Amino acid sequence: MTWGKHVAAGALLLTLVACSNTRPVETPQTRAPSAPVRTAKPIRPTIAPVQAKPGASTNAKLMPVLDHGPRDRKQIALTFDADLTALMRRRLVSGKVKSYYNKALIDELHALHVPATMFLTGMWMEQYPDVTRQLANDPLFELGTHTYDHRGFTKHCYTLGTVPRDQMLADVRRAMVELDRVDPHATRWFRFPGGCYDTTALRELAPAGVTAVGLDVPGADGFAKSPQPIIKQVLDHVQNGSIVVLHMHGGDNAPYTTQAVGPIVRELRARGYHLVTVTQLVSRG
Ligand SMILES: [Zn+2]
Repeated sequence: MTWGKHVAAGALLLTLVACSNTRPVETPQTRAPSAPVRTAKPIRPTIAPVQAKPGASTNAKLMPVLDHGPRDRKQIALTFDADLTALMRRRLVSGKVKSYYNKALIDELHALHVPATMFLTGMWMEQYPDVTRQLANDPLFELGTHTYDHRGFTKHCYTLGTVPRDQMLADVRRAMVELDRVDPHATRWFRFPGGCYDTTALRELAPAGVTAVGLDVPGADGFAKSPQPIIKQVLDHVQNGSIVVLHMHGGDNAPYTTQAVGPIVRELRARGYHLVTVTQLVSRG
């Protein structure tokens, strides 16, 4: 299916691991009782919370898929994919396209204080290592992965080509390694290129330990001819818990995303929605 309807619960895991209790050390008393007694500083028992990375899955059989958050809260997650295919990279190298990093969009999200989840392909991270590092250190954003080179995970996924079944896991892990290298807060949220997946892909990718983030509102910014259809598409379809897919690679593939984001954000806030990351969207409390 593409941008599929299959929904399985993606569960966040919170694991608290208590370190071994260490009793305060008692120092033998060496002075008269009336004198102040100095003891070694007690070593307090420590409990180190170890939180599984957001989106981490322990489902050994099937990768979970999350298409939206709770419908009873006025929260919406705007998500932005950074695609880079072999074809797109050739366009960069040849100079036909100046950049597939939409800095103006990032500036706009900053100006509007919009938290967002970004899904980066491994190839994009290789092309823009410094930007990846900046995004990783940006408290407004959280990062997930979007495969290595944006090929499809079903036989017919638009014109994206297909990752052979026996290479699916390695492809996804390659992007995860790339992201983990620069982002200590890297999530385990993952997005299928073109939203294309089937049960075979979900089975093959279960060992990756990630949760696929689908959507319920495609932003329609890919190859848009103006901002207006993007704005209308998003505003006509959002509801509580929506996950909206837009793109942050800009260039000739998503040329009007920046201009659409401002009006979308302002209208959503006027309707009382809070814009959140995917992690915040599914967090309880
Ligand atoms: Zn994509």
